[in-house]
Amino acid sequence: MTGWLIKGVRVLGGEPADLLLRDGVVAAAGKVGTAAAKGAEVIDGDGLVALPGLVDLHTHLREPGREDAETVESGSRAAALGGYTAVCAMANTAPVADTAGVVEQVWRLGHEAGLVDVQPVGAVTVGLGGERLAELGAMADSAARVRMFSDDGHCVHDPRLMRRALEYVKAFDGVIAQHAEEPRLTVDAQMHEGRVSAELGLPGWPAVAEEAIIARDVLLAEHVGARLHVCHVSTAGSVEILRWAKRRGIRVTAEVTPHHLLLTDERARGYDPVFKVNPPLRTQSDVDALRAALVEGVIDAIATDHAPHAVQDKECEWDYARPGMLGLETALSIVVSTMLDALGWDGIAERMSRTPARIAGLADHGHDPVKGAPANLTLVDPAARWTVEPALLASRSRNTPYAGQSFTGKVVATFLRGVPTVLDGKAVR
Ligand SMILES: [Zn+2]
Repeated sequence: MTGWLIKGVRVLGGEPADLLLRDGVVAAAGKVGTAAAKGAEVIDGDGLVALPGLVDLHTHLREPGREDAETVESGSRAAALGGYTAVCAMANTAPVADTAGVVEQVWRLGHEAGLVDVQPVGAVTVGLGGERLAELGAMADSAARVRMFSDDGHCVHDPRLMRRALEYVKAFDGVIAQHAEEPRLTVDAQMHEGRVSAELGLPGWPAVAEEAIIARDVLLAEHVGARLHVCHVSTAGSVEILRWAKRRGIRVTAEVTPHHLLLTDERARGYDPVFKVNPPLRTQSDVDALRAALVEGVIDAIATDHAPHAVQDKECEWDYARPGMLGLETALSIVVSTMLDALGWDGIAERMSRTPARIAGLADHGHDPVKGAPANLTLVDPAARWTVEPALLASRSRNTPYAGQSFTGKVVATFLRGVPTVLDGKAVR
């Protein structure tokens, strides 16, 4: 058996066509004859949609350090099941990914797991401490070829350091991905600051703490002429600032998470910490603004902020619970459920694959499955209805906010360089 023939699949939702995957690439597309496909294993693509393999700009894989919550391998498997062929692994591990040694370790673990391409993100500052720049150049020159740097989980709040980081990465067209949170405005914060937090008596995380940093950073990016990426945009005000910055020609991109496209701060009323996340769930008008911004292109990409946590860190009182929720295995279903009508399949491919691949500098990813392209793709059944059962997720953690919830649209198969990582909706290994 050599290669895979996918029969009658709708590429980007278009007319049914055949795809022949061989030697890591799409060897033929359109009407593929029996002779050309000789020896290939056949998949019936009837009713399925083919998308370029998804690319996640924002994944926490927890290894090294918290292998009880997730490993590079378990997170890679969760990613493949979610339709991803590449993920950017955030630097807030233990030890922090702030040296060439640690980013190479993560990169190597990803390579060994072989389920998705794991692209390490390097820390901006030593130990995420916000005081000294990490060895950005050594990480860029390492085998991991780091191009994106982030202190995610923490904000690079010193404007002088942020400026220097932008200047440094400009030399090799790197990008600084900012977790926009003015820390002095979010001391002890537990949820979005607004009507619900006032009613519940929980300390608030005000929208202005995000917006103030984004406003500052787009001005710094303009001054330096470097690339800025804004992680998990969550407020309507942030959208206004990004729209202004883009009109001005500032080199800024932004991502939104599936949970900020779907859930609101009303979910905090049950005090279930599974809904505690940073930045926090906002209001319905923020959700509406984020959806519109994604359609308009003011927000460029959808990123999961997949944040696995061990049971003891999540199933406790709200105040003590760690912020964050699982995302990789549910992202596409949520996007299909909430945004397909507005974006179409091409728009989903743009915001979940092509654009994130471009932002992260992942040359092998973000290509439509056309002849000659790397065979990194996913097959989706847009009509399949499924219910999220936490115990069945591939992630080592269980902190999904969607337990028991049903979605339409499910990943059926994923291919990494022509090799299946998921078939019939199940991980191949
Ligand atoms: Zn973050």
